Amino acid sequence: MKTLRVLILGLGLVALAALPAGCQETQRGGDGFVRKSSTPPSYMMSINELGQRLGMSVAIAGNPYYELKDANNRVVVQTREHGRVLVNGRDIGHVGPVVDVNGTYYVAEILLPQIRPHLEDGSPAWTPAPQPAPSPWRPPTASGVVVIDPGHGGRDPGATSVLGYPEKTLVLQISRRVAAILERRGVEVIMTRQSDTFVELEERAAIANRANADLFVSIHADWNDDSSHRGFTLYIANAASNASRRAARSLENAFLSARVPGKGIRTADFRVLVRTSGPAVLIETGFLSNPTDARLLTQAEHQDRLATAIAEGILSAL
Ligand SMILES: [Zn+2]
Repeated sequence: MKTLRVLILGLGLVALAALPAGCQETQRGGDGFVRKSSTPPSYMMSINELGQRLGMSVAIAGNPYYELKDANNRVVVQTREHGRVLVNGRDIGHVGPVVDVNGTYYVAEILLPQIRPHLEDGSPAWTPAPQPAPSPWRPPTASGVVVIDPGHGGRDPGATSVLGYPEKTLVLQISRRVAAILERRGVEVIMTRQSDTFVELEERAAIANRANADLFVSIHADWNDDSSHRGFTLYIANAASNASRRAARSLENAFLSARVPGKGIRTADFRVLVRTSGPAVLIETGFLSNPTDARLLTQAEHQDRLATAIAEGILSAL
């Protein structure tokens, strides 16, 4: 089931990447550009559900745009090639891929945390929206035990970014966001540290082994003396199990779906990877030595984007 979903996600990416203008899968109406599919990819939600989750109603639906409204805000989602998302008239970025499933339009779930910070205060968007009508698609849930390991902590700050922020703080913030998403989706999460405390590497692995974790994910941020390096890197041990390799591929797919650039999957015998008995992946979320990454890693919006991708990758791997 999970493997199938990863496969579908992978195929979806291939299909998107391979979409030439005039491709058979492309429907053109006006300047519309929507890929048709019989099932929505797992990382997508219908625009109606996006509205529900933001606490907004759909005022206009279809091509070339959807309009979501509440008392304080107006969100426009352009359903065309290179479409944009506008919040109260302000362009906040690309809408990304749009998929038409029997007339219902789907967009990437990552738009949710991207839109939220731009909504006016006092809007109902910050309170959980009621879920009235059953929607045709629900976020995938999973059961299992996942150990999230925020790197460093306490007397070990890790690397310090070119902007002066310690790795230990940034990775704890991202880890907490990952844990919150996973818990909402039915996963039991164990954090190796909840605060700015020092935990030995052996103990981090031991926590995963005692819990018989389905997956151990260590979260770090990178450093390179060459400040041009950017993006995520996924590490597995040299002798990693097939389950570890599969988990790394799920995470890579999720990062690419969220359009987080990166260096892909590499092998290294980090202590936490070789001392864990179950599947284990170490994520370098970006380079603290790169000014752009260093700035992004401090931003709530970017941390949410990373956390959502990491959680999606984990859910697909479970
Ligand atoms: Zn680190």
